[in-house]
Amino acid sequence: MNPPGPNSKNSATSNGIGIVKSVALGPHGVSLSVRGLCKSYNGIEVLKGVNFEVSAGEIFVIMGPSGAGKSVLLRQIIGLEKPDRGEVLIAGLPIQSPDDTTRYRVAMVFQSGALLTSMTVGENVGFYLTQHHLKPSGEIADIVARDLEAVGLAGTENKMPDELSGGMRKRVAIARALAVEPQLILYDEPTSELDPVSSVNIAEDIVKLNERIQVTTLVVSHDRDLAFGIANHIAILDSGRIIAVGTPAEIKSNPDPCVQQFLNASISHTLAVFTHEPPVASVPIQAPD
Ligand code: ADP
Repeated sequence: MNPPGPNSKNSATSNGIGIVKSVALGPHGVSLSVRGLCKSYNGIEVLKGVNFEVSAGEIFVIMGPSGAGKSVLLRQIIGLEKPDRGEVLIAGLPIQSPDDTTRYRVAMVFQSGALLTSMTVGENVGFYLTQHHLKPSGEIADIVARDLEAVGLAGTENKMPDELSGGMRKRVAIARALAVEPQLILYDEPTSELDPVSSVNIAEDIVKLNERIQVTTLVVSHDRDLAFGIANHIAILDSGRIIAVGTPAEIKSNPDPCVQQFLNASISHTLAVFTHEPPVASVPIQAPD
């Protein structure tokens, strides 16, 4: 399958597809570095120097209490807002760089799913490719079918979003993100508003897709079971600062009372029956030049 054409423009939109840059790379992960990120609104500092590194191909989960700055952080990472200080590097390249050499693809799955309700499921999934004339329509139909199948929704192309459950809508949003063959995929609270069984299904999808296309995966969530079930590494964001980073085992045994207090207070699904083995190591993938 060909990559998006050389004339495709960077864009940061609210339709579920974040910065999509034209590239000549296969579907594999890229690294993400967040360095010294600061962001204030009306003189109130929300991000106070956030630092973390996500290796190519791994699943990294950012947890934190409500109001910690998780959504603000995501908005800086996908370029919807500009930080006051600090930088975001994807595949080693600053996203705010004026040098627009476009080398990677990023997709975001918004909390709400952000599906276009007047379009069918298939049209939603193929939306970005159609809008930007990136593929012939027959090829887009194949991609849509492939990515709906990947999230367990084969054959639902002609359904309307309103006909689907909350869990199915989230999966359509994931399929739409997959259609651009992302190298970095961001999930904002993927299990919010879902029942425990749907939450487990989404968690399994995230892991399966990470393994299948080796996409670097950044998840923002306050769902403890999700984080500990899928992550290679977890970072805890509290009041605009990362207070702990480590493997799930390291975070669990972190002696910081703020970390333990947050973990004890965070959501746990009483019915969670997560059966998928969590990934144990990042996939070593070479970042592009
Ligand atoms: P979280 O996602 O962790 O629950 P947010 O990132 O949404 O938290 O918000 C962190 C803080 O930043 C909150 O106090 C919120 O009111 C504030 N905030 C977020 N966006 C804006 C904005 N556009 N203008 C002013 N304050 C904002």
